[in-house]
Amino acid sequence: MKGESHMAEVAYIDASRIFPGTPPVHAVDELNLEIADGEFLVLVGPSGSGKSTALRMVAGLEDTDRGSIHIGGGDVTSVSPKSRDIAMVFQSYALYPHMTVAENMGFALKLRRMSRSAIREKVERAAEMLDLGPHLDRKPRELSGGQRQRVAMGRAIVRDPSVFLMDEPLSNLDAKLRVETRANIASLQRQLGTTTLYVTHDQVEAMTMGHRVAVLADGKLQQVDTPRELYERPVNSFVAGFIGSPAMNLRTAPLTAEGALLDGSPIPLPRTALSAASAHGLDEVTLGLRPESLNLNTSEQEGVALTVELVEELGADALVHAKPESAGSAERLVIRTDGRRPPALGERISVTARDPEELHLFDPRTGSRLSR
Ligand code: ADP
Ligand code: MG
Repeated sequence: MKGESHMAEVAYIDASRIFPGTPPVHAVDELNLEIADGEFLVLVGPSGSGKSTALRMVAGLEDTDRGSIHIGGGDVTSVSPKSRDIAMVFQSYALYPHMTVAENMGFALKLRRMSRSAIREKVERAAEMLDLGPHLDRKPRELSGGQRQRVAMGRAIVRDPSVFLMDEPLSNLDAKLRVETRANIASLQRQLGTTTLYVTHDQVEAMTMGHRVAVLADGKLQQVDTPRELYERPVNSFVAGFIGSPAMNLRTAPLTAEGALLDGSPIPLPRTALSAASAHGLDEVTLGLRPESLNLNTSEQEGVALTVELVEELGADALVHAKPESAGSAERLVIRTDGRRPPALGERISVTARDPEELHLFDPRTGSRLSR
């Protein structure tokens, strides 16, 4: 459906947006990020991390105070929003209530003075892709939430832009519909091959949709990688704790000759990790253990002794929340275990690390990853 084959990579080069105030807010702080032609890149981060501002900088709806924005190799930093050849889909679909679905979808083309028959053809083609064919003559109020969301997508598609910009377009849908729709958007994007920058605060959405995912915190890019790399090799403890559900267990752990002490019990570490820590002059590390990297033992002899405080049965898996028995340590560890044989509440268990290679070590002073 793509018209001319316009290359449309997007690049932020040292791009900053600073809102005036005392102190000024560095909403986007020296961002360097490239989205390849045809790529689906997801920008994820907590609320207030600068995602919408970054997206709006590409659209031209927000100034770029320092650095530059490039689309298709050209510097568009001072190009008006209208001339940037992008289409945006927002959280609020902002459909015109008095117009039909077809009129809503074709409105931008009408403004461009495209002929009625050409508009009709484009709208019908998009409606077919979006399963909206039978609804073209309805008004938005006659549609379900999911259908309205698709009209908003359709409005972007008919414009045949170089770049799609989407800001939390699924947040008004219920959980089940959100899962369905994210699969539909991902497959639509594959079909169209249009470069897409997609913003969400939901890391599961990010991981399931993005070719690559860029993690933002406080306006600063933390890491941009494939979902797998982000999960397996987070560059710092922020990304480690943000990506993954349930979250990685992160603890400050003193180092001994045997490894890291987790609530008083030694967790063996790979030698490379130990030497990386000592090269940094550390006597403690931030130790990261994913819930599935912990083994539940029946014997209380080895590992970290814990008392079960909560069991969440998910069916195939169960999540065990357990509190260390050693005094002074308040934080629960979360362990993913076989859903068929979960321990009982109050039961005393012990856990060991499944594989030293699955441990994550960070510098407690900077949060940076220590080894590998
Ligand atoms: P996100 O989309 O990740 O939730 P935003 O990009 O909306 O984050 O906001 C990033 C930061 O910039 C926040 O601290 C927010 O309060 C601030 N901010 C956003 N827009 C403005 C504005 N127009 N004026 C002042 N501060 C703003
Ligand atoms: Mg936002």
